Amino acid sequence: MRYISTRGTAPVLNFEEAMLTGLARDGGLYVPETIPQMTAAEISALEGLSYEETAYRVMRPFVGDVFSDDAFREIIGRAYAGFGHAARAPLKQLDQGHFLLELFHGPTLAFKDFAMQLIGQMFQTALSRKGERVTIVGATSGDTGSAAIEAFRGLENVDVFIMYPHGRISEVQRRQMTTPQESNVHALAVDGDFDDCQARLKDMFNDFEFRDGVRLAGVNSINWGRVLAQVVYYFSSAVSLGAPHRGVSFTVPTGNFGDIFAGYIAKSMGLPIDELVVATNQNDILHRCLSGQGYHKGETVPSISPSMDIQVSSNFERALFDAYDREAPAIVQLMDELKAGGFEVSQGALQVLQSHYRSGRASEAETSAKIAATLAASGELLCPHSAIGVKVADEQLTAGTPMITLATAHPAKFPAAVEKASGIHPPLPARMADLYERPERMSRVPNDLGALKDHIRENLSA
Ligand SMILES: *Cc1c(COP(=O)(O)O)cnc(C)c1O
Repeated sequence: MRYISTRGTAPVLNFEEAMLTGLARDGGLYVPETIPQMTAAEISALEGLSYEETAYRVMRPFVGDVFSDDAFREIIGRAYAGFGHAARAPLKQLDQGHFLLELFHGPTLAFKDFAMQLIGQMFQTALSRKGERVTIVGATSGDTGSAAIEAFRGLENVDVFIMYPHGRISEVQRRQMTTPQESNVHALAVDGDFDDCQARLKDMFNDFEFRDGVRLAGVNSINWGRVLAQVVYYFSSAVSLGAPHRGVSFTVPTGNFGDIFAGYIAKSMGLPIDELVVATNQNDILHRCLSGQGYHKGETVPSISPSMDIQVSSNFERALFDAYDREAPAIVQLMDELKAGGFEVSQGALQVLQSHYRSGRASEAETSAKIAATLAASGELLCPHSAIGVKVADEQLTAGTPMITLATAHPAKFPAAVEKASGIHPPLPARMADLYERPERMSRVPNDLGALKDHIRENLSA
């Protein structure tokens, strides 16, 4: 399996190289050259398998010969052993024809654990085999960073630096990043918003001297290994509702477009998905774009669903690449225009995008109202991100096709917003009940590339 860049000029890589690299050297994102197919019989055969075995069968063709069969099985086993639910991704019925896929039973209570725990294990196996170390730098709107720190803390061949927007993430998110005591963990509170953090991260990757000097590796949602890990639960949930004999639809609370793009990959592999619905909060650049209004950056407005407070959605480039018939020069031009504020999508590309994705948005008031209404109707307490998904999914339900909404985080990760909406203070699961007592450790840093690079160089643990 070979991986190519959406901008067309970076070297073609295998799975391990694409995963360890993150962002391509031409500024693009790696995608598989071709998408492996699963037949209806192969999909049928997933019924009744463990999550781990499903993961093995779905991901195996993308990995090529980078890991042996046994090594890859072990990696998957270690990745999901720390989850708090035996099914890993349990499916709950919310209403007639509407299901909730609970993706928050991992160590940091958000779906990002599915990808990050796997990436951590794959990095460890690949790096110790090569006798190399890397410096992981990430930018987070809250959940990626905690998931990355949890996945890499204490691993031997890795330092992990996570930039988060100071004052703009929930206390649980912050504490999950600032309380691990391992010396290879570095939480950086940046004076800026998430888009600033993401922009500084891109700057570091485009600074080849720094990139090569510290052996920079990226685990943000653009990392192909992360997208791949997320493909698995589309299969496991669809099969439990009757796929491949019956089509299903998904609604996905969306920020950086990584999770929903994994759904598109599942569909491209042969999983019968009727609709993929993008759900956004008031930061709705994707909803506006898919509604034909072009892709234009706005000001990011902080919301009660901070993990979706994004105006430049990095994985959307992968969707555009396919919509523009994989013509890299077209993508290079769009991304140049984006630097100046935005671009229009061609009529042909918009039609392709609209054939794969629907979209909707939820305001702050609608999100809170949906938390309260869902609690009253079904007893489920949703986090604000999941509530946005449920609200948009309700508008898109069609008789005869089950809708699966992805519940992307545990309500206890966003207790203030959930309590305000529902009157209930969601307790943390017992295994992390002492989070508020643990001592914190972080560095406050300016939104400045030079200062950030210096800080990272000076704080490497080896
Ligand atoms: C990251 C995140 C999202 C958005 O996922 P993307 O892959 O960036 O679109 C939604 N909800 C929660 C809770 C998240 O942590």
